[in-house]
Amino acid sequence: MSRQPCLTCGQSIGGHARTGVIRQLAAMLVRTNHYPKVYSLLNQLPLCATCISRIPFLHDPWCMVCGRHMLVNSRGTQAICGDCSGFPEQLQITNRSTIRYDDWAKNLIGVYKYRGDERLMQLFSTLLLIAWYRHYDQQGIELITYVPLHDQRLRERGFNQTELLAEAVGRKLGLPVRKLLTRQKNTTKLSQQTGKQSRMVSMNDAFLPAHATGDPATYDEVPRISAAPGKATVPAIMLIDDIYTTGATIRSCAQTLRKIPALREARILSLTVCRS
Ligand SMILES: [Zn+2]
Ligand SMILES: [Zn+2]
Repeated sequence: MSRQPCLTCGQSIGGHARTGVIRQLAAMLVRTNHYPKVYSLLNQLPLCATCISRIPFLHDPWCMVCGRHMLVNSRGTQAICGDCSGFPEQLQITNRSTIRYDDWAKNLIGVYKYRGDERLMQLFSTLLLIAWYRHYDQQGIELITYVPLHDQRLRERGFNQTELLAEAVGRKLGLPVRKLLTRQKNTTKLSQQTGKQSRMVSMNDAFLPAHATGDPATYDEVPRISAAPGKATVPAIMLIDDIYTTGATIRSCAQTLRKIPALREARILSLTVCRS
């Protein structure tokens, strides 16, 4: 166990209480044979028992499209929330998130985005892996990609926090991570946008397939995922981002990914740390 103090409160991380908290939480998060995996992931979190028990994990029932927690589930059928049912089926991109975007998450994501703290990266990539074992392990995902930053923003910040998360998740799962998209519009920061409508408009055509801009991405490998022998005929790829708010970013990315010939029919599943 880490000798470093708890990332959020500074107290010592160890102690018997922590094991009990983690056991209980793992049993609540997964009821399958993924329990040992999820237990081990929770144990790797750089947090003490008290802070682990404060993590705002999402619980079922959830919207089968966007993964948000829903208070009421319709009897016997899988429910879709009001926001998602407003979109035609081809625009309903499956998303699953690990935690609610509450003040705790907002504060930590904010620090991570602008400082790229290594331990926060470990925290968020571990949270993403927990959601993977809860939702996506059986989905036949072969490739991971991520929401890119605009080049100008990347230069200012020096790193893309989402790319780092995707790489960490890919390493743990043994899956390739590829840059498949570039951002052509330097969209207004999320925090400066007012209203759902303006966010959706600003996301129209915000992305391009990476190869279309001459980006030296490893795009060439994509066609192989659908051609590999013994693989499902419909390729499944996972798109990683930090926060799912209206889903406008994810939908815009998915539409652009489908312009890549090998991914025209692909199942695109998004995995995000937070669901606001
Ligand atoms: Zn703590
Ligand atoms: Zn929904």
